[in-house]
Amino acid sequence: MKKIEHIGIAVQSIEKAEKLYGTLLGKPPYKRETVASENVITSFFRIGETKIELLVPANENSPVARFLEKKGEGIHHIAFEVDNIYEEIKRLEKEGFDIIYPEPKKGADNKLVTFIHPKTTGGILIELCQEIK
Ligand code: ZN
Repeated sequence: MKKIEHIGIAVQSIEKAEKLYGTLLGKPPYKRETVASENVITSFFRIGETKIELLVPANENSPVARFLEKKGEGIHHIAFEVDNIYEEIKRLEKEGFDIIYPEPKKGADNKLVTFIHPKTTGGILIELCQEIK
């Protein structure tokens, strides 16, 4: 794995959170994007080498809606950038991690993504992402 690509934060209101993080970080988000495959609306802030991804449910089928119900607002996942997501999935499956999408999906910000179930990572949802070239 190369670096922490972004940290995903689940929020109730994208407008309120964009304002809060805009003030906190001293800059506006560089994009807002709906990810149909995950039923979420995302907003991205660049902060040095990494990013903050705000997440709100696009509808009640969203995994983020379930997260907010259970845990409330807060850190939702940590995303690591990888060179080859297919090889990383194979490697991590062999190591016993529960990969949520064995076939990676098109995620936000022009990435192929998958997730590792928190039950196999000590309680943290981990995202793997690879830039689509
Ligand atoms: Zn993410």
